Amino acid sequence: MKAYERLLKYTKFEAASDGSSKNCPSTPQQLDFGRALVDEMLALGISDANMDENGYVFGTIEANIKNWEGIVIGFIAHMDVVRDVPFQNLKARVIENYDGRDIVLNSEQNITLSPKEYDSLKDYVGKDLVVTDGTTLLGADNRAGIAEILTMAEILLTNPEIKHGTIKIGFTPDEEIGRGADRFDVKRFGADFAYTVDGGGFGEVEYETFNAATAKLKIKGENIHPGTAKNKMKNASLIAMEFNGLLPSTQRPEHTEGYEGFYHLIDLKGSVESASLTYIVRDHDGVKFQEKKERMGRVAAWLNDSYGEDTVSLEIVDSYANMEEQIRPHWHLIDTAYEAVKEVGGEPHSIPVRGGTDGARLSFMGLPCPNLGTGSHNHHSKMEYACVQAMDDCVATLVKIAEKYGAPQ
Ligand SMILES: [Zn+2]
Repeated sequence: MKAYERLLKYTKFEAASDGSSKNCPSTPQQLDFGRALVDEMLALGISDANMDENGYVFGTIEANIKNWEGIVIGFIAHMDVVRDVPFQNLKARVIENYDGRDIVLNSEQNITLSPKEYDSLKDYVGKDLVVTDGTTLLGADNRAGIAEILTMAEILLTNPEIKHGTIKIGFTPDEEIGRGADRFDVKRFGADFAYTVDGGGFGEVEYETFNAATAKLKIKGENIHPGTAKNKMKNASLIAMEFNGLLPSTQRPEHTEGYEGFYHLIDLKGSVESASLTYIVRDHDGVKFQEKKERMGRVAAWLNDSYGEDTVSLEIVDSYANMEEQIRPHWHLIDTAYEAVKEVGGEPHSIPVRGGTDGARLSFMGLPCPNLGTGSHNHHSKMEYACVQAMDDCVATLVKIAEKYGAPQ
């Protein structure tokens, strides 16, 4: 079976995660998908395939080299899709031999996928694309990754002449709501290192993420009849606006790219009596990240100076850190992935992830975990698509990595 055929098969699982649920996994549909994956893995010959009570699916491809000892490598993908893009009743189809022009996804609703808007399409002229009908996501994020990992498994298990060491496979729930690593039992998984297969184009090898924190600001005002307010009223909403005004206006998501970090106001509530602001703070650079948090602290202190002690209270909680520091000491992970991509005919490249990944969290839990491309684009969008041949290249890359870690070190 080809990877894209698996992807098509998985589109029938409506397994979005749900941040409002306290359960793990957050939705029962993920368990349905997980059970189907366990069945598929058992059928492929992964005899220890199983799902734990939290919905994590693990399995092992045993080494096929006698008395093999070496680095046990893992491959990880997530089972959930995002909830805030329509994900049900998905109608995927394959466009063969893409001609480089606009793709009419839906003639009734006049929805097109255009290379004028989406540059990545230009790389796929003459290739086959998996697209939606323009009304839902495709969920290639991350079912393309699952499809590629299991296609790699099928290739390894049916071609004993390909020599490899012990390979671990893991499928996690609830990545899209930031909980994919929460109950990941690194010890039970049993790999020394792993790759998440959860990126964009073929050839991507990612090992840098943001440092991330959430800052919550509470402002206490003082209300009084506006007619008699002179020298008495403290308007919490206006103080909130002052706080925001003292942050650099160019350091916002809409003005930043690449390695540029930002302050992002995600919630704001206010009356005269009280106000609250919530920001997320992001930067790849640890020093600049620290400076951003300190600046918020200074602004809060300055406002307290002006309006009285305890007017403003600021709480900053770190949420995740740049995985690079965990990957650097194990640079073979990047070298090996680069070599594998090149041998498959691709151009390996690394871009700083402007977000976090499950791999970033896992890296800090003792499982260093760079991220690999999947041959799919426009994640979390109705314009999401995957390229059949790029997916094949990703599978070939995984097979190469498995072989490389099987060879005597
Ligand atoms: Zn993903």
